[in-house]
Amino acid sequence: MRIGVLALQGDFAEHVVMLRRLGVDGVEVRLPEHLDGLAGLIIPGGESTTIGKLATRWGLMEPLRDFGRSQPIWGTCAGAIFLSKDAHRDQPLLGLMDITVARNAFGRQVDSFEIGLEVAALAQPTALAGAGDTAPFHAVFIRAPLIETVGPGVEVLASLADGRIVAARQGHLLATSFHPELTGDLRFHQYFLGLT
Ligand code: GLN
Repeated sequence: MRIGVLALQGDFAEHVVMLRRLGVDGVEVRLPEHLDGLAGLIIPGGESTTIGKLATRWGLMEPLRDFGRSQPIWGTCAGAIFLSKDAHRDQPLLGLMDITVARNAFGRQVDSFEIGLEVAALAQPTALAGAGDTAPFHAVFIRAPLIETVGPGVEVLASLADGRIVAARQGHLLATSFHPELTGDLRFHQYFLGLT
């Protein structure tokens, strides 16, 4: 199986490493033709405005939208913003997921934090080895967005103790406010592979 990682800006290399640990070929995507034959795509964290500007410059906006209509896409942090339909700013968005987000909702870089999240979906047994573990998921938030509102077809996968949403799924589309590629825990990557 080949899974793409959008490699315009941000921490795409960490996602490729996680995929490799799962025995999956992680392919860096920089041009529309790099999407050919991929079973899914990860959009990494970074700066969503920069990712959007570079995607526009390289003619990737429509090819990414086409890809996401039929194939799984997972956006982490800036990638989740880029997948959303509204981030309350003038920036290029794919608009594939029926979620709205608030950028930098927790404050500045120094306000970054890590927390254990209960994610029931990760405990569901899948064909993939290691899934089904019910331990809290150690989530790293770095100038993270919040998922403010979700449309009717969107399932909330994880929330903070106060109810604010930090992970959601709409069919084959997945958004997380945090960075599963920065810890050794492969469960979210496994979960995403289960959507392919
Ligand atoms: N603050 C970034 C943005 O709004 C996201 C940060 C991240 O991806 N860690 O695009």
